[in-house]
Amino acid sequence: MRLVVLGGGESGVGTAILGKKKGYDVFVSDFGKIKESYKEVLIINGIAWEEETHSEDLILNADIVMKSPGIPDKSPIVKKLKEAGVKVISEIEFAKPFTEALTIGITGSNGKTTTTLLTHHLLKSAGLNVGLGGNIGKSFAWQVAENKFDAYVLELSSFQLDGIEEYRPDIAIITNISPDHLDRYEYKYQNYIDSKFRITMNQTETDYLIYDADDEAIGEWLKNNTTKAKLIPFSLTKEFGEGASINNNKMEIKINQEEFTMDTEHIALEGKHNIKNAMAASSVAKLMQIRNATIRESLSNFQGVEHRLEKVLKIQNVQYINDSKATNVNATFFALDSMTAPTVWIVGGVDKGNDYNELMSLVREKVKAIICLGVDNHKIIDAFGNVVDMMVEVNNMSDAVKTAQRLTEKGDTVLLSPACASFDLFESYEDRGKQFKQAVQNL
Ligand code: ADP
Repeated sequence: MRLVVLGGGESGVGTAILGKKKGYDVFVSDFGKIKESYKEVLIINGIAWEEETHSEDLILNADIVMKSPGIPDKSPIVKKLKEAGVKVISEIEFAKPFTEALTIGITGSNGKTTTTLLTHHLLKSAGLNVGLGGNIGKSFAWQVAENKFDAYVLELSSFQLDGIEEYRPDIAIITNISPDHLDRYEYKYQNYIDSKFRITMNQTETDYLIYDADDEAIGEWLKNNTTKAKLIPFSLTKEFGEGASINNNKMEIKINQEEFTMDTEHIALEGKHNIKNAMAASSVAKLMQIRNATIRESLSNFQGVEHRLEKVLKIQNVQYINDSKATNVNATFFALDSMTAPTVWIVGGVDKGNDYNELMSLVREKVKAIICLGVDNHKIIDAFGNVVDMMVEVNNMSDAVKTAQRLTEKGDTVLLSPACASFDLFESYEDRGKQFKQAVQNL
């Protein structure tokens, strides 16, 4: 069988190694450059590769193609493959048949990484031999090739899900759905929603789907479609016979005749959105029969994730918080919602069709000054110009942080939660968050 791997990154190289080990004739093709360290791995494993080109004769001749998640369906080579009737799948789809391990697949618009890491932390703390994969760290295929784990917690973007046909997670989570990446879905929100729900399309009666029952798009989909999986809802406001809810500031989970309760104030992560993430992760732990004491302890000692409501420093009693990963309005909504002090809010970047009305009442209530950090800030100025007293435009992080410091008093908070992509002034959200932390250190 001829396996062609499109993209020589983490996902691609992992798939190539697994394919080679399983006896495929493997060829890796990347239209850009392949990292030196990955080239070495390919060479050591005797895998053929090319970079900065796609040799169509070789690629179209494949029996099966693994497309890395970063390559759009619209790209000419993928179109040609589809026209030629060649099967194009994702890394998860390719790798899963080669392992007996149980998989927990996590998708959603926001909270994937946090929930994936938290779930992994809970299961690992309970002593399970569990790996992490999908969009995080070492690729799933690579780990399957090394045959390391009995279970995997996988972060699955909609791009990973678009390339599945038979993949069936034993437990699936949909954290929430709000408009994102619509450019890859013909600007149709429904296409993006349907893509997220591919996570459950192959599930059977023995599998579980854990989902946010407060989420409108999820509720609509479940009303109009069916899944065979057993449903485990979680909600901040509703209660269920089986599921996770909040009662008198206590998180309560009822699953398979067992109950788990915990004071939400003992959850280390802050913010309502993180209570939801904790409910989802703990539901997995309950399904896997982890002891309540272990779940409680793990939720109270989980350290959080860089660039997600990350507390950086307190200077002259002003707390600086890095939420650079908030690249859409929904993520920023939960960041502002969790602010307990007057806030100087650093916002802006590449707008993804944002509707700032959703933030209006939170901004009125909590924000004392806005610092616009983008090349084009007109939408933010139009939305909030008459709502806050102070509004400043800057074009680099150092000025943003220095200005923020000037506008604060003791007891205030400075929050970087941009609600936008980072590519106008930064390389990535990580770069933006790192520059913020550095600028705060420099104060
Ligand atoms: P993803 O991997 O889906 O991008 P992350 O865990 O990296 O999600 O979080 C991205 C942003 O969304 C961060 O700003 C974070 O604080 C916020 N966030 C995390 N969980 C949720 C949630 N359940 N709902 C809304 N926003 C969330």
